[in-house]
Amino acid sequence: HTECYNNLVSSYFLQESEPQLSQAEKQKQSIQEVRRSLPIFPYREDLLAAIREHQILVIEGETGSGKTTQIPQYLLEDGYTEGGMKIGCTQPRRVAAMSVAARVAQEMSVKLGNEVGYSIRFEDCTSERTILKYMTDGMLLREFLTEPDLASYSVIIIDEAHERTLHTDILFGLIKDIARFRPDLKVLVASATLDTERFSCFFDDAPVFRIPGRRFPVDIYYTKAPEADYLEACVVSVLQIHVTQPAGDVLVFLTGQEEIEACCELLQERCRRLGSKISELLVLPIYANLPSDMQAKIFNPTPPGARKVVVATNIAETSLTIDGIIYVIDPGFCKQKSYNARTGMESLIVTPCSRASANQRAGRAGRVAAGKCFRLYTAWAFKHEMEETTVPEIQRTNLGNVVLLLKSLGINDLIHFDFMDPPPHETLVLALEQLYALGALNHLGELTKLKWNFCYLLITDYPLSDVVTVIYKCSEEILTIAAMLSVNNSIFYRPKDKVVHADNARMNFVVPGGDHIVLLNVYTQRLAFKVNGYSTQWCFENFIQFRSMKRARDVRDQLEGLMDRIEVELCSCNGESVPIRKAVTAGYFYNTARLSKGGYKTVKHQQTVYVHPNSSLFEEQPRWMIYHELVFTTKEFMRQVIEIESGWLLEVAPHYYKNKELEDSSSKKMPRKQGKAREELG
Ligand code: ADP
Ligand code: MG
Repeated sequence: HTECYNNLVSSYFLQESEPQLSQAEKQKQSIQEVRRSLPIFPYREDLLAAIREHQILVIEGETGSGKTTQIPQYLLEDGYTEGGMKIGCTQPRRVAAMSVAARVAQEMSVKLGNEVGYSIRFEDCTSERTILKYMTDGMLLREFLTEPDLASYSVIIIDEAHERTLHTDILFGLIKDIARFRPDLKVLVASATLDTERFSCFFDDAPVFRIPGRRFPVDIYYTKAPEADYLEACVVSVLQIHVTQPAGDVLVFLTGQEEIEACCELLQERCRRLGSKISELLVLPIYANLPSDMQAKIFNPTPPGARKVVVATNIAETSLTIDGIIYVIDPGFCKQKSYNARTGMESLIVTPCSRASANQRAGRAGRVAAGKCFRLYTAWAFKHEMEETTVPEIQRTNLGNVVLLLKSLGINDLIHFDFMDPPPHETLVLALEQLYALGALNHLGELTKLKWNFCYLLITDYPLSDVVTVIYKCSEEILTIAAMLSVNNSIFYRPKDKVVHADNARMNFVVPGGDHIVLLNVYTQRLAFKVNGYSTQWCFENFIQFRSMKRARDVRDQLEGLMDRIEVELCSCNGESVPIRKAVTAGYFYNTARLSKGGYKTVKHQQTVYVHPNSSLFEEQPRWMIYHELVFTTKEFMRQVIEIESGWLLEVAPHYYKNKELEDSSSKKMPRKQGKAREELG
């Protein structure tokens, strides 16, 4: 105890004796040193000259060379923000936009949100003073709606172009177009060392500026046989590295939040058991929904004697650079959206990543010194089971919202839109059909009721149809539900050691009708408590994630603001279930599933689907339901389901469903009986 106390005292004195100012000065100095040490720095002048000379420039550079953080600052120093013009830089990922903006604000010693800011969906951290704006590619797309020529920007940087997200691909087409009539606009397409020739080709042979990387050799190890359980294999590999390998941090690539949390828990648990037999191991997760203060932790330098393990999604592949990584563990998987244009079904599937991805991952080990990459798959699998590159998102996703957006911008001829890689024809046709079915397009393929379509786009990626709020008079409730759905299934907290308590708490919120109504109930109950000022405590006691609730409230406020702006009056059905369920049916009628022998089948395509075990309707088994989304894990699960009546489908979508399709064969055989039995049970 004495020793510990002494340590505390001496560090206290140390801090006291060094004046605060010099500390800050020192930090500033070292930040400038880091800036000057980045691979891009020697090319600053050449780069600026190339930008002056060409309107469109493709920039290729190894991850970590300084593209994202430095180029906007160079441009600013070179006068591109004079006259109040802005520099915009897009990122495919929310986390990257936030984190990079924070870093640049720090480098420039300004407060985040002033000169340097970021804008991501439902979160705008910018102000009138903002001249460097980092944003998701989706947000820049939205800006086209209010400023079709992007007149307030002098430079647009499409960063991480190699990721080829849907939004980035659409931006390519739109920006190439406006560059023609805005000769003063500079366009920079920045990418890791992938695909740059193709970008150059697409942008009428724009020159490619290459930033030579500095990269140390990385030894690659494969497993002899395939791993049955890659999560466990990751944990074991981390511990082996920790015990047998020289100093250096570890980066593990997993596919999503659940896996990452499980891996972190396992690691911590085993370290606890090993106790003082091993040196300190800092385990840090990073994924999109992680609160930003936790995200920032991955960048903290590792204390001497300890080792850091960052467990990440493929966000750490190229979007974020973590210094000090020497070891990479790559199980070879990623979560990918896939779309079946025949059935119209979109699902998130864990699939083997591409060889290009695997090589990027390995590269993360060789940034500061020679490194090692442990691939948890065989060399044979690398050669034969992985695709060369990742298929661009535009070819494996539902295009409904993009079509709506392009139509809102007055681009009617989608077949001839300047796509870098056009989407499959049937996907485009299906999107048009769905929008027609929703009433967003008329029979000529033109937008109907522009105001409302605007609203769709702005509000949410999900089509909460106009019928919804107008006819059923429940916009208050629908806004709440939309906000609650927007936080990605993170409302209920279910810690591993308190599963029973958590599930009981959750059961207390269950009301008939389905998960949407349950979410509404949670939100309403919390409001009632907030009045009394108990909300954190209340969330804690009820196993509700406070942060998610807070976010849902922010989202709801924004949605309400939007409704106000487009002058739509809000109305409430006082929480009555039928209007709400009808409204959801109106927006999602094509996501209908029906109970048939042995399980559920989608109505239009007869695909077998399952109710997610976390759903409030898991045991109930109503005959008809609408799902919010499908996720494929072990099976095709419907997540967030709501009970409906088949008759409603004819009411809200007579153009989509025929009477015959909705005939309930089972109800003919046993009329009422089942319903009655359920009443008795209930
Ligand atoms: P690129 O875009 O070329 O991949 P970046 O500009 O993102 O490179 O990163 C350049 C360097 O800036 C990194 O190597 C790292 O040293 C530093 N850096 C970037 N983001 C952060 C951060 N959030 N915290 C600390 N350092 C960072
Ligand atoms: Mg970058």
